[in-house]
Amino acid sequence: MTDAPIFDPHAWKLTELETELTARARKLGKEKFADRAETWDREATFPIENYKDMYEAGLLGICIPESHGGFGAGMRAYCLSAAEIGRYCGSTALTWNMHICSTLWTGTLADELELSAEQRSRHEQGRAHHYGRIVKEGAIYSQPFSEGGAAAAGFQPFSTQARATEGGYIVSGKKIFASLAGHADYYGVLCTHIIEGKKPSRSDTLYLAVPADADGVKVVGDWDPLGMRGTVSRTLLFEDVFVPATEELMPQGVYFQAASNWPHMFLTLSPTYMGISQAAYDFTVSYLRGEVPGTPPVKRRMYPTKQIAVAEMRVKLEAAKSLWFQAISEAQCKPSKEQVLRAYATNHLIMETANDLCRLAIRTCGGQSMLKSLPLERLYRDSRCGSLMLPWTAELCLDRIGREALYEPGETDD
Ligand SMILES: Cc1cc2nc3c(=O)[nH]c(=O)nc-3n(C[C@H](O)[C@H](O)[C@H](O)COP(=O)(O)OP(=O)(O)OC[C@H]3O[C@@H](n4cnc5c(N)ncnc54)[C@H](O)[C@@H]3O)c2cc1C
Repeated sequence: MTDAPIFDPHAWKLTELETELTARARKLGKEKFADRAETWDREATFPIENYKDMYEAGLLGICIPESHGGFGAGMRAYCLSAAEIGRYCGSTALTWNMHICSTLWTGTLADELELSAEQRSRHEQGRAHHYGRIVKEGAIYSQPFSEGGAAAAGFQPFSTQARATEGGYIVSGKKIFASLAGHADYYGVLCTHIIEGKKPSRSDTLYLAVPADADGVKVVGDWDPLGMRGTVSRTLLFEDVFVPATEELMPQGVYFQAASNWPHMFLTLSPTYMGISQAAYDFTVSYLRGEVPGTPPVKRRMYPTKQIAVAEMRVKLEAAKSLWFQAISEAQCKPSKEQVLRAYATNHLIMETANDLCRLAIRTCGGQSMLKSLPLERLYRDSRCGSLMLPWTAELCLDRIGREALYEPGETDD
């Protein structure tokens, strides 16, 4: 039996497209991804089969405009669908996010930015190029921006550099925690365009699709982490890689404009953890009712302590769902200060709630519930990774809320 939607279409007034896409994602997740998740986790291997299924279901192109053969989903439709996948396989949902950002940021998000006529026409050509590959060939894109320094947190220019050369750029640098490493067809690399005589600047960030098979691209290091093991987030090295100018995902200067004016673009890691939160709650209810497949039909729901724990979990889940729904609904270019603070608060709450609900689930269900034959212990480990994701780690969300709530832009105490 298919699980109930996390966000009931009628109660949450979802659009027709959101209803259709979330149903599609939930069906794939429940029928295919749930059973496979254990394998990717145990072996720390990439869920390649899931990607074949997602391609067939049109989900690789969910955010690609209809005019280019996609579904034309915006931020909210994507987030709601990703949460449905996250409840069955965290690694699939998280890596899907990396792929989707290559299309969401360049798609509906870029439509709201102020581009010159020249930039717009260049961007249109780029979109046709990248979207065609995804829709027609099932190409997978990833999004490595982390480098281990302060760039991924948004405080410094990226150390990965691109120098202009005839017909394109020469890219050099290193990206850590590059989900889909060795499995994506194109790495959507953020790097600093080095301009002769000019200090490296964040405003000169370039967003390039580096072909995985280009000379000088290397995947190095092992991958044996606590959670999100199926993401295969190994290290990428770029050693003087030639990248044709046609591989720009956004014209020069546009990524910086997006990061400055469309802050909700960094909220897209949260759907995976919204899904994990729901999964931890659902597991607890089924387990206490004695209904988890593969376990003896022993009921534990009659104990008042269990009932209180489930109630506590439900309160946390409802609060997280409501705030998250509001934040993903109001994502837009140039949001108000209140909306930005709410986005930080939402990301913080979702990442922390996912881990908290998994903790409560294990404590409430008991020792047998955390055996590796059941999904709960994987959910627990996967949930731990959410608050570590830059640029909006749980710490940095609090840091930003505190500072931006107390200071208006440009204000100091000097
Ligand atoms: C499973 C998984 C998959 C990932 N996939 C990707 C991916 O596909 N692409 C990608 O780009 N990255 C990815 N990441 C990387 C992730 O986004 C972070 O960049 C990475 O976890 C940072 O490593 P760190 O905590 O060691 O970083 P550090 O920079 O050492 O930061 C440590 C902590 O210090 C805090 N901190 C950092 N900078 C500052 C600052 N300036 N001021 C105050 N506090 C600060 C943060 O809270 C951070 O959590 C992934 C991570 C995980 C765990």
